[in-house]
Amino acid sequence: MAGNRKSNPKQVRRAFYIGRFQPFHNGHLKVISEIAREVDELVIGIGSAQMSHTPENPFTAGERILMISRSLEELDLYFYVIPIPDIYRNAEWVAHVRSMTPPFSVAYSNNPLVSRLFYESGYAVKHSPMYNRHEYSGTEIRRRMLTGEGWEQLVPPAVADVVEEVCGVDRLRQVSMKGDIE
Ligand code: NAD
Repeated sequence: MAGNRKSNPKQVRRAFYIGRFQPFHNGHLKVISEIAREVDELVIGIGSAQMSHTPENPFTAGERILMISRSLEELDLYFYVIPIPDIYRNAEWVAHVRSMTPPFSVAYSNNPLVSRLFYESGYAVKHSPMYNRHEYSGTEIRRRMLTGEGWEQLVPPAVADVVEEVCGVDRLRQVSMKGDIE
């Protein structure tokens, strides 16, 4: 899916940014807000798109598309959100990404493996600062969802709405249970 303002197709500076976004949080939003200052269009890859309903990956690709597209509504950025399933060959992963995305010239990532794979494929790779990494972290947010601690302030309001809409906290708790349901 694509959203927001139109740009001149002849001179488009188009970038790529991928994450698992389990869930999309304020750190991701801040990074994308900064990228929006430097490019005309952003291709956002939903990594591990095949994964859902597990403790580490509770949300489906479709739910993550909703989280991202609703959170970026206010941003002055033309963006595409594209699910990218994992493959078993890291050496072929960039070609796999390219086969499913609009062309782009620069990849933004702080993930060492992602950065390395794009670098070796000849792409310009840019990094961003890490924002409040101890709290703006999917692992920390899922931990808080399980323990009942407050997590809503760590994500854009649209993400909290999607999690509520799909009963995401209940789902995470159930798929994280060990043993039988009594
Ligand atoms: P993520 O959601 O943890 O993070 C996405 C991006 O946001 C990363 O660059 C991360 O460094 C950055 N980020 C996270 N918290 C931040 C904060 N507080 N402030 C600023 N930046 C922050 O996702 P990820 O694990 O990096 O996603 C990579 C995806 O690519 C995964 O789904 C992975 O499976 C996939 N991948 C697959 C293959 C393959 O299939 N062979 C190979 C490489 C990568």
